[in-house]
This record gives sequence, C-alpha cells and structure tokens, in this order.
Amino acid sequence: MKYENRVYNFSAGPSMLPLEVLEQAAAEMTNCAGSGMSVMEMSHRSADFEAIIQRAEADLRELMNIPDNYKVLFLQGGGSLQFAMVPLNLLRRSKKADYIVTGTWAKKAAKEAQKFGDIKIVASSEDKTFTYIPKVKKEEFRSDADYVYITGNNTIYGSRYPEFPDTGDIPLVGDFSSSILSQEIDVTKFGIIWAGAQKNIGPAGVVIVIIREDLLGFADDSVPTMLDYKVAADNDSMYNTPPTYGIYMAGLTFQYLKRMGGVKAMEERNIKKASMLYDYIDSSRLYTAPVAKEDRSLMNVVFVTGNPDLDKKFVAQAKEQGLVNLGGHRSIGGMRASIYNAMPVEGVEALIAFMKKFEEENA
Ligand SMILES: *Cc1c(COP(=O)(O)O)cnc(C)c1O
Repeated sequence: MKYENRVYNFSAGPSMLPLEVLEQAAAEMTNCAGSGMSVMEMSHRSADFEAIIQRAEADLRELMNIPDNYKVLFLQGGGSLQFAMVPLNLLRRSKKADYIVTGTWAKKAAKEAQKFGDIKIVASSEDKTFTYIPKVKKEEFRSDADYVYITGNNTIYGSRYPEFPDTGDIPLVGDFSSSILSQEIDVTKFGIIWAGAQKNIGPAGVVIVIIREDLLGFADDSVPTMLDYKVAADNDSMYNTPPTYGIYMAGLTFQYLKRMGGVKAMEERNIKKASMLYDYIDSSRLYTAPVAKEDRSLMNVVFVTGNPDLDKKFVAQAKEQGLVNLGGHRSIGGMRASIYNAMPVEGVEALIAFMKKFEEENA
C-alpha cells in the first residue's frame, strides 16, 4: 500500500474504498474538472454536475449490463428506507408479497412491509441461525403475489444465493447492498435490484435502485412524494437536491471498476480472495465457518474459534497488526472479514498469515 498509515479495513460497512478513488477525490476536492469548485459546492442543476450524474449512470449501466427498459435511480435514506419504499410502490394489485428470510436485513424488510400489506414468509433459515439459503420452488410462491423479496447477500451471517429463485411472472426484488458489482447479475431476472452504497460503492446515504419501467406508477396517492419511485424516475433522480457528493464518489468507483476490467474481472478476483480464506479456515484446527459451503458469501466471511474469549483476543491482536474491524456483528459475535471489491488480495493474504500465527499460538 502506498500510505504507511492505511490499514486493511475489514469493516462490513461503511467499508474500505479503493485507494485510487480516494486519491482522485482528494485531488479534485477544491477544484473538480476545472470548475474552480468542489463537487460539494456545485449546483445540482449545473452542467458540471449533470455530467457527473449522467456519467455515473452510464458507467453503471455498462458495468451491470442494464437494459434500456430499466431506470437507474440515485436515492437517499439508506438501505432501510427501501424496506418501506418497495411495498409502498409494488403492492399494486393483491397487496400480497412473499418474502424469503435469510438474515437480519430480510427480516427487517418483511416486518416493515407488514405495515402495508399481506406479507407471507415463504421460507426462513432462522431455524439454523441463518447459516444456509432455503431453496424455494416456484409453486411455493402465491400466484397472485405482487412481488417476491430476497436479500442477495446476507452481510451479517455471511451467506448468499448461489442461484436466485424462479418466480415465474412475479417480479423478484433483490437487496444487493453488500454484493452489488461483486459478481455478474442478470438484471432481467429482477423487477428491482437495489443497494445502499456504503458496502461496495461509496459513502453512506446514497441508495441505487434499478427498477423495471412497468413497475413504476403504482404508488397510492397517499404515498409521500419523495417515496414514489416514479417521481424520482420522471425527474432523473433530481426531484429535490440529490446526495451530490455521494453520487460523485459512486461515479469514481464505477470508473475504477471499469479500469479494473469490469464486474467479471472483479468476480474472478472476489472468488479467488474468498476461496483463499475459506480453504484455509476449512483446513485449520482452530477456526470454523458456520455457513453451508454452497451458500457462502464472497463478500462477508464469517468464522469462529468456538471460544468467545479467544474470538475477542483474535480481534484485538489483529487490530494491532493493522487488520481492523474483524469483529462479527454485535448480534452474533465471532469474526467477520468483509472483503468487498476494494479489499486487495494482499489484504486477504495478510489476514491469513495472521490467522496462521494466531492458530499456532492458541490452538
Ligand atoms: C447494510 C445493509 C442494509 C441497511 O443499510 P442502511 O443504509 O444502514 O439502512 C440493508 N440490507 C443489507 C443487505 C445491508 O448489508
């Protein structure tokens, strides 16, 4: 790494960003693209900012191969506001929706949706502390459901869908906050793909919503204007002042991903990083990874020693070595290494070297 004072940050979110993205932002901090001002000081209606948001959208469309019949929205309110926006916009006929609960975020999404309609939990992996992804067949969804909802990657428990459920004609909605742009996704399989930015894209606050056009325009008149996807779509995400700096940072990350060779190249690198870590854990005497092998996340690698005191010691000693934020989520403890796109292979190598040393000293 270029800066001696940088650490390998394994935080689940907000999380590490590519150093070259941060350096570009720093270089452009007081004068962006010859404008004589910071992006933070620009009118969102200015030509300079228009160019920034348009390029961000175009680059995301290219990276994810987003078809023309999908809108890309840059919204605010964090991931959790989508738990309400999805039902407020998509409960449009039967007011029924089917949820698969594979972790804390899916559970929260289902609970929020219950305020607005008839929500059925068609499957849950809570019986085994969310260590697997339940397989759901098409016939198990209610045929008149307005949508089916999944969380693509479970940030806290470290699982992800190896393949997505077949919902037939029912629109599938996916929360990809912690895995967007880490692997290729066939956008056409989804009615909505959404993602909070702070895990794999940029600063917290921005949320990206990719929505099929035929799902726009169903929000009830009582839905607040700011929560209607159609209002955002009709106004190119500028019904009001958008989170301009966050969008700019997201755009810099998209440019970085293109320089890196795109999503396919990132996917290969992510598989390599995750395999290195899981292979080592599976071969070790000290550590175990609780998630079913075929469902393991490429982004959030959860592991334990089986002894909570030893886990605490691990996290503290790792920190002294510049390997920070390795503690598991406050709800489950243990360890979690979040290895998003920005985590270099060297960071994972450094972690494994530390884990080996710790194993020798403590197993
Ligand atoms: C972090 C996260 C959220 C919540 O995001 P906030 O911006 O904090 O509301 C939702 N879903 C997933 C999968 C997440 O990882």
